[in-house]
Amino acid sequence: MATVIPIHFVSSKVYPRLTSGHFNNWRIAFVVVTQLLYFGLPWLQWGGRQAVRFDFASMRGYLFGLTLLPQDLIYLAGSLIIAALGLFLWTMLAGRLWCGFSCPQTVYSQIMLWLERWVEGPPNARRKLDAAPWGAEKLLKKGGTQSLMLLFSLWTGLTLVGYFTPLRELAANLAAGHIGTWEALFALSYAGFTWLLAGHLREQVCKHMCPYARFQGAMFDDHTLLVAYDSARGEPRGARRKEAANLATQGDCVDCGLCVQVCPVGIDIRAGLQYECIGCGLCADACDEVMDKLAAPRGLIRLTTQHALEQGRRPTLWQRPRALVYGGLIAAVTLAMLTSLWLRQPFRVDILRDRAVMARETQDGNIENAYTVRIFNTLPDARQYRLAVSGEGVVAAQPAEPLHVPADGERSFIVTVAADPNVLARGSHEVTFLLQDAANPRLQVREAARLLMP
Ligand code: SF4
Ligand code: SF4
Repeated sequence: MATVIPIHFVSSKVYPRLTSGHFNNWRIAFVVVTQLLYFGLPWLQWGGRQAVRFDFASMRGYLFGLTLLPQDLIYLAGSLIIAALGLFLWTMLAGRLWCGFSCPQTVYSQIMLWLERWVEGPPNARRKLDAAPWGAEKLLKKGGTQSLMLLFSLWTGLTLVGYFTPLRELAANLAAGHIGTWEALFALSYAGFTWLLAGHLREQVCKHMCPYARFQGAMFDDHTLLVAYDSARGEPRGARRKEAANLATQGDCVDCGLCVQVCPVGIDIRAGLQYECIGCGLCADACDEVMDKLAAPRGLIRLTTQHALEQGRRPTLWQRPRALVYGGLIAAVTLAMLTSLWLRQPFRVDILRDRAVMARETQDGNIENAYTVRIFNTLPDARQYRLAVSGEGVVAAQPAEPLHVPADGERSFIVTVAADPNVLARGSHEVTFLLQDAANPRLQVREAARLLMP
């Protein structure tokens, strides 16, 4: 009979012990900075409106002084290319430092762990509480932890909604006791995911669900930074004995197990490089404390590279052409995007020829084509635009008076262009629309369109 091997998707719960040291300080700093940014940004005002907001209803995105329109999707594409190249470069240079310090899953798991520790106590107390039968104390403590986690998750969900709808209005509506249906659904879904992934699944997400953990090995090389145990120095491991002969043959690892107890994913770094390791460095902090007590040099577990562990030195950037290629591509795309943003005009124009009317003859014998001209004003004040149309045979364009577009809005105008049939042959001809800001004619946009001569 075939043997059925059970698959345990969720392994036993990890109760990591607290530690202190540089890596832990960096982790705390990253939690604080990333959360200040996440929760603080949507409250920031810039030029009388929310500094960062993506409004699907009006199809506009606000990034401080910049207003983005659907035509600016190229910048989103550019940003995604930079982010992808940046991830390749960062992973190649620094391994999993992103996972250990700034990945939202790690950051939120850390916050949930703090809440859990605050209510339920240190690892041993939490382990006992989990094993204990349900009673008043367990109900109170578990209820307290879950309530805090849910409140925090809801706050993250409402903040996320605040990136797509004015957050101050949302907060006022909430205070008044009402919230829109889609806002509520969006906030509850995100809160639910935060609570489930960071509050409950935690390291299981990194181990079993995150694709980045699986494919990043392909980006590593011998010079990639990683948190590693120096086995040449640490082995043979074992408790220290006083005899001089033993000291001479013994490695620096006293097999205290602290590096395993503090690990948030519950692995033993001494077993070598493992895909579960998120590179948080907490094992290095714990081990440094042990080394201090033994008056041995720190760094038995440290941030290093495979090459440095074997050969004792690190290469320069020039010896890593892949890094230079990624860096060069990032610089080129960034420069192209910045130049384009610098040259970008604060208004955009879409021109659509009226297809319902082919072309018609005017009283003075010219041939007239009609167009819908849609102007998008991205400035926070109303603007007037002057229109001019040029091209072979073009004799007039209407309306001649300035076109008024409201602040941070858009408006469509019907524009007619008349051309002399004695100059133009039958067929389709290119004409150019020029729109200038009436108050500042240097701000101008040119768009090409086709004129039909029947
Ligand atoms: S903390 Fe350091 S000394 Fe203790 S088991 Fe880990 S590697 Fe060995
Ligand atoms: S092995 Fe060390 S660096 Fe890796 S996850 Fe565990 S504590 Fe963090």
